[in-house]
Amino acid sequence: MSVLKKSWIAVPENSDFPLQNIPFGIIKVPDSDPHPATRIGDTVIDLSVLADFGYFDSLDIDNLSLFYTPVLNDFIALGKQTTNAVRLHLMKLFSEENQDLENNLEARSLALYPIDKVEVLLPLNIGDYTDFYSSREHATNVGKMFRDPESALLPNWKYLPVGYHGRSSSIVASGAEIHRPKGQLMPNGADQPIFGPSRLLDFELEMAFVTGKETKLGTSVPVEQAEDYIFGMVIFNDLSARDIQKWEYVPLGPFLAKNFGSVISPWIVTMEALEPFRTQGPIQEPDVLPYLIASGKRNFDVHLEVSIQPENSSESVICRSNFKYMYWNMSQQLAHQTVNGCNIRVGDMYASGTISGPEPNSFGSMLELSWGGKNLIQLSDGDTRTFLKDGDTVIMRGYCQKDDLRIGFGESVTKILPAL
Ligand code: MN
Repeated sequence: MSVLKKSWIAVPENSDFPLQNIPFGIIKVPDSDPHPATRIGDTVIDLSVLADFGYFDSLDIDNLSLFYTPVLNDFIALGKQTTNAVRLHLMKLFSEENQDLENNLEARSLALYPIDKVEVLLPLNIGDYTDFYSSREHATNVGKMFRDPESALLPNWKYLPVGYHGRSSSIVASGAEIHRPKGQLMPNGADQPIFGPSRLLDFELEMAFVTGKETKLGTSVPVEQAEDYIFGMVIFNDLSARDIQKWEYVPLGPFLAKNFGSVISPWIVTMEALEPFRTQGPIQEPDVLPYLIASGKRNFDVHLEVSIQPENSSESVICRSNFKYMYWNMSQQLAHQTVNGCNIRVGDMYASGTISGPEPNSFGSMLELSWGGKNLIQLSDGDTRTFLKDGDTVIMRGYCQKDDLRIGFGESVTKILPAL
């Protein structure tokens, strides 16, 4: 087994951010504008300072101003060849074999910050957002509860990656405080709806990918080329109000039940960093149509977990799942999204849909964990939940592990506040 290269920046044991990760994000340090950054261990590195000191001059980048922008869109638009060259260059700069920057105390003091001294912001201007519904276990569970246990999956589900166009304006970065939404609810047994705060507030454990290349309206992304269009991934908490959803979602799908806050982990982990963790997806039966046939390993082995932390109490892990369970992979999702000629843009976000596994403790929402509110979810402090309470904090984490190499996403943290 190869010994992993180390950084001259300290990396705590089991950190999601070793030298081999080099994710991209946007940080704000006090008295400065937001800038692109990366993270090693618990240290963040302001890339604008590295640009100031000429550390990117050896790369073939015409316009260094993109290291000073408040979002990563222009950086991502450079294309994978260049963004990965930047990533490999940063790995070299921070490798313990290289003392260049380590010995430049002025640059170091201006560029490096402890993570707890900076704000990590939403890293993108997200133009469009799609939410897929690609976990067979999740779609089956919801179909059983919301519709008919005998035909839980609708006839189209195994033929196409079902999705809907969501709203990008309400996607925010980890650390968000989200008020319980209000809306129309149809209580059991009632014959007309009432208006009020959602009573069935839930999370959805998802991952999302970010597109790094645009297409022209009228063209499609072939499934075998889809990965060229995917820059990287984040964890995605798609908060959902189940009572609003149940009343509103027929016939056009979710609307206000899911656009009051979706919370992402703020470091975009590149597909290059995730490469060692490819794995085979579930067998697709019946065969998919030719435009959806994707060869090779298109799923990724990402361990996922969700904790609930009640106000003034400790956190309890209530779900452990894995991104590898997805029935439809990202290549198929993007091929399907564009097969009709729909164009995509740099910085668009595509969420997987709730990632439920086969075991009950791997279900990726409280709707499923409590089976529609019928079963109590036990917390470590003795309390129980069926859905989220005001004051609860939802913490999602994800990481890949192979031998000594751990590449992670950090956290998506959301605190639930009372309805306004
Ligand atoms: Mn969702």
